[in-house]
Amino acid sequence: MRKVAIVFILTVLIPSLGLAWLAIRSLRDQQYSLERQEFLLYQSAVDKLAQEAEGYLDQQQQQFATQVEVMLQESRPEILALSFDETIRKAWPMAEIGFAVSLKGKVINPLLTGRPEARQFRLENDRFLCNAESVEVYWNTGRGSVNLSALDQKNSLGGQNSPQFFQAQSQTIVPIVQSGGQSQSQGGQGGYYGTDQVQSGKIPTAKRVVIPQSQTDPSQQAIPMPPLPTDNTYSRVQASEAEFHQLIGEASEGMMARFLQNRLNVMTWYRSPRNSNLVYGAKLDLSKLTDGLKSVVHTLNPELGGNVCVALLDDSARPVSRSHPDFTASWKRPFVAAEIGEALPHWEIAFYQLNPGKLNSAAVTLKFTLALLVSLLLMAIIIGGWLIGRDLHRELRLARQKTDFVSNVSHELKTPLTSIRMFAELLADGRVTDPDKQRGYLHIITAESARLTRLINNVLDFARLERGEKKYQMHQLDVATVTRDSAEALRAHLESHGFKLELSLPETPVYVIGDADALAQIVVNLLSNAEKYSGESHDIRLHLFVAAYPFPHAELQVLDRGRGVPKGCEEKIFEQFYRAHDSLSSGIQGSGLGLTLARQIARAHGGELKYIAREGGGSCFTLHLPLATPSSYQT
Ligand code: ADP
Repeated sequence: MRKVAIVFILTVLIPSLGLAWLAIRSLRDQQYSLERQEFLLYQSAVDKLAQEAEGYLDQQQQQFATQVEVMLQESRPEILALSFDETIRKAWPMAEIGFAVSLKGKVINPLLTGRPEARQFRLENDRFLCNAESVEVYWNTGRGSVNLSALDQKNSLGGQNSPQFFQAQSQTIVPIVQSGGQSQSQGGQGGYYGTDQVQSGKIPTAKRVVIPQSQTDPSQQAIPMPPLPTDNTYSRVQASEAEFHQLIGEASEGMMARFLQNRLNVMTWYRSPRNSNLVYGAKLDLSKLTDGLKSVVHTLNPELGGNVCVALLDDSARPVSRSHPDFTASWKRPFVAAEIGEALPHWEIAFYQLNPGKLNSAAVTLKFTLALLVSLLLMAIIIGGWLIGRDLHRELRLARQKTDFVSNVSHELKTPLTSIRMFAELLADGRVTDPDKQRGYLHIITAESARLTRLINNVLDFARLERGEKKYQMHQLDVATVTRDSAEALRAHLESHGFKLELSLPETPVYVIGDADALAQIVVNLLSNAEKYSGESHDIRLHLFVAAYPFPHAELQVLDRGRGVPKGCEEKIFEQFYRAHDSLSSGIQGSGLGLTLARQIARAHGGELKYIAREGGGSCFTLHLPLATPSSYQT
């Protein structure tokens, strides 16, 4: 049995558990990869939008450079520098303040005596522009893409200031990622850090304002995502400390941004080849600049746009513009986000899932369904295994009991046959002449023959019952008479073995419908068991009475003061071949069929046979039989 259990566990249970585990794992991996694919798809889309925004800033830088070149065609560089603030503001509305600085470190324009905004600008930026102070600044440098010959040609055609001209210029601008931080993250070159920082290798890192990929539905348990290769919580846009001269280096144009009293100042600058000692710059009007950027949030392709809200976030992670005006979220926790670049440090394009639980809930449902299926399957395997095991156990027990039965019956047959033969031979030889002895021997022969008959009857009746061939001759009878006759037939034998048989039977007949022989067999089997399992005590009591509860019926009790049935075997003793007292250990012979037969007969009579432990020790077997009713008399 243990071997079968081990084989079952090794060949069925463990492989099934392994398969179930693999199925759940592969589903989880699949889910991870789906989520990752979705994440990458949106990440590339947000990167593209951030590049578009950066392209727009690039265009502003180009427009400024072009504008300066146009102006330089009309006046000499030094002359333009003297009134640059006023001239650029007139020509290019994006400029809030124009400035001109010589490379030697002199701010030529605006004048300190000029309008208040310009004076403020000078106070805040003079030391930085004059290379007297290093400040924390974000910057990138342009590509110097102003085509002077084309400009000259255009100028000669007389259309240099026309909007079409700028339009044509801006359309030729290819937005490329050129900022220091971005190029670094893509493994490219060209991070334009100040010489000091590059030499010292100390490139400062800034914490990002938003933490992408953390937007989850609080009602759903988030499925853990595998870690992404890059750490998104750190900004790729980094500030460095530099003086203006150090910052522009050999470049001809660029953009820079600094925070002054927590306000963002965005500046663009240009150095013309016509006079490379003069740098023209402009502080940009931030509201106009952001107005131009706002439309970026609507450019996401509609297929993706249906699932996310696109937002343009400022440096404090506040939405400046969003694709779904009513949508609101924890703005610092987008699904994916990308920084725009150094010109607008810490400004980001961010996506927020409109329904963050959608993917999760689908995945969770799928996971639960699979887990349920796997558990059901496992349960079916375990229950099936348990049923097979139980069946096998029963079959094995039955097989063992059958083997025991054969050896028990052989022994049961052999013992009485040996005594019968021995005493019969003694009598036949005429060696025993004492009439009392002769009578005693004949009694033994009779008793042993009766024992043989009982055994053979039991075996034959059992076989008949098994085949369904047992027939009962049912008619009304007095069960008290049947009991008395059966008991009296055994009395001589019992008393000769030292037993005291006490009968307590009612005076009046107790009528039942039954087969007299079958009922007598029950009484004989019970009395014979009382004799066998009585041990030292030799008191047997037989009690018949009519009980009223739950309905009037006859009860026949056979009581002894023997060893009783061991605990836990009270029901098993009625199973075929089952023996609570093993012949080897107890030395008591038996077939394990007596009680099986007795109960089957009782049930065939509409009654029952039960065992209870007798108070004060011993056994009490009770046969319940329904009383014959007037209507049943006729049958
Ligand atoms: P057996 O031929 O073994 O007696 P039975 O079917 O008559 O078979 O009884 C089944 C088992 O019930 C016995 O082996 C014995 O262990 C137990 N048993 C039956 N009668 C008694 C009793 N009066 N006292 C104690 N145990 C009993």
